[in-house]
Amino acid sequence: QNTPAPGPKRVLLAAPRGYCAGVDRAVVAVEKALERYGAPVYVRKQIVHNIHVVSMLEKSGAIFVDEVDEVPEGAHVVFSAHGVAPSVVQAAADRGLLAIDATCPLVTKVHREAVRFARDDYEILLIGHAGHEEVEGTAGEAPDHVTLVNGPADVERIQVRDPERVVWLSQTTLSVDETMETVRLLRERFPHLADPPSDDICYATQNRQVAIKKVAQQADLVIVVGSANSSNSVRLVEVAKEAGAKAAHRVDYADEIRQEWLDGVSSVGVTSGASVPEVLVQQVLDALAGAGYDDVEIVQTAEEDLRFSLPKELRRDENGRQ
Ligand code: SF4
Repeated sequence: QNTPAPGPKRVLLAAPRGYCAGVDRAVVAVEKALERYGAPVYVRKQIVHNIHVVSMLEKSGAIFVDEVDEVPEGAHVVFSAHGVAPSVVQAAADRGLLAIDATCPLVTKVHREAVRFARDDYEILLIGHAGHEEVEGTAGEAPDHVTLVNGPADVERIQVRDPERVVWLSQTTLSVDETMETVRLLRERFPHLADPPSDDICYATQNRQVAIKKVAQQADLVIVVGSANSSNSVRLVEVAKEAGAKAAHRVDYADEIRQEWLDGVSSVGVTSGASVPEVLVQQVLDALAGAGYDDVEIVQTAEEDLRFSLPKELRRDENGRQ
């Protein structure tokens, strides 16, 4: 038996939420590859960081591997939306693999920045999470020029060769506020720190954080649909808490919502990470409706209509110029 809610029960549904243009493109790339070349199609790493998407694609014949040396020679392999280091592209070519590069164009943009700044002999302070695939791919473009900065607490230990020639870049899926704090602290230490030519944190990450901030200001509880290894989903939980939600939890599926989370809760905010299909959000809304939260108000802070064309390897094959 739950403690009754003090006011009318309602759901505040954040918009934008869920799939971004890069995730949509990557998932469609695997589906098209399966359609065109037949199963199995190999995918290096999770195509996007969502367990539901990965398991659906597995059922359709995708095989997820950690490294290209697990892929049989001559087979098709898709590189995930998070991007790959040049050494991975080379390893795939050496094995005679037919690679389809589903790296999000907004990640590729950061790779290009890394290459350019390294060529100009800058030391790149890459703000991001150690071990994340995107960070490994970006750092792999210029390993001798990149130093990883894990967040504000990491700034103090950073040493650079020449404080006059440093630039910061970042992972695309970080908390905007925390990253700006990291940059502020870096600039305190290195006043000549150069900025990237444009935002590295992508539009989708930013838009979902703005929307959940607005929701969190009015919500007793925030539920973020997304997987544990999804950087932008995990950031949404943190951003919601910082913005004033009394509690915020991440779930992969609706059946992970615990009864006690709803104790004394009137307003439940709901959002989802950039790799989350809408069907999973709908299941959460159904579960909440079952608990009496059937009044759903959409809190919209931006419109999104960005779409990316398919990876060039699939476009080329589509045009019959294999
Ligand atoms: Fe691209 Fe941003 Fe989506 Fe990542 S979260 S796939 S960078 S649009």
